[in-house]
Amino acid sequence: MNPDFLAHSGKTLLAGVIGWPVAHSQSPRLHAYWLAERGIDGAYLPLAVPPGGLEAAVRGLPALGFRGANVTIPYKEAVIPLLDRVSPVARRIGAVNTLIVEADGTISGTNTDAEGFIENLRDRAPAWRPDRPVAVLGAGGAARAVCAALLQAGVPELRLFNRTLEKAERLAQALGPDFAAPIRALPLAAADWAKAAPDLGLAVNTTSLGMTGHPPLDLDLGCLPADAVVADIVYNPLRTPFLAAAENRGLATVDGLGMLLFQARAGFAAWFGQTPEVTPDLRAFVLRGLGT
Ligand code: NAP
Repeated sequence: MNPDFLAHSGKTLLAGVIGWPVAHSQSPRLHAYWLAERGIDGAYLPLAVPPGGLEAAVRGLPALGFRGANVTIPYKEAVIPLLDRVSPVARRIGAVNTLIVEADGTISGTNTDAEGFIENLRDRAPAWRPDRPVAVLGAGGAARAVCAALLQAGVPELRLFNRTLEKAERLAQALGPDFAAPIRALPLAAADWAKAAPDLGLAVNTTSLGMTGHPPLDLDLGCLPADAVVADIVYNPLRTPFLAAAENRGLATVDGLGMLLFQARAGFAAWFGQTPEVTPDLRAFVLRGLGT
């Protein structure tokens, strides 16, 4: 370990991730990589904020000289009323994951998950075009960002599957007014999937199915077109059973790690003044942190 790098000066640029718990977050590792790569006098810290402490923590950021912070579970929605400004994309998604302390000490919030998802998709599946219907599986917090990203990219129709149909219907209603493309809410059931799959250009898993310790997402991928792309935002494990089934069928696949890496770029640029790159070396470094 290089002590020069850890001996922070009075000018050290500070950021971190606010959550509870935060020990599982890969963000400190990922930002440490970029800070070291670029030789920036900066630090990015895990900030474990217990329940009831969010307002004091957020208000303390400017006082402590922080340039900003990421916000993770369970505070992505609760932080919104504490901010001076919230970007249109964060309003649309209903969650903030990135805080920026402005020069005047006010705090702006935005959400970078949607751009993280779409930039990773374009990076890993460059042949994909938003010219055919897409399926999003799941209607939880992450699905909101994925749906917003795909609608913003111009897909002609979004088919939103969820075990709890009412949640998919609520999300469709929330996003519908902002976009021209139709959003159809469907139950996550084999028969509905079989009917919807044959003309899809892309299917994305945003459920927690396939995560280590969870059952797999079990859908027949045989009815997808041969040139469809299959994406999973779960990244632990990197090769989920859903992606393995798609690969076995010869389909192009996109794993979830890149979304995490790409969503971090905008925050890093705002806090530390340089726009970093997502490289194979960074992917390998973060994967080692996941124990993969
Ligand atoms: P969430 O808000 O809790 O939503 C969970 C979703 O999974 C819901 O749609 C839920 O359906 C569905 N689900 C859970 N168990 C299910 C089951 N047994 N059968 C069918 N559906 C089931 O979680 P989230 O924040 O959206 O996160 C979802 C996943 O995305 C997690 O694995 C998370 O790690 C990953 N993620 C990745 C990134 C990235 O950067 N790559 C970013 C954010 C999240 P119901 O509505 O019916 O409960």
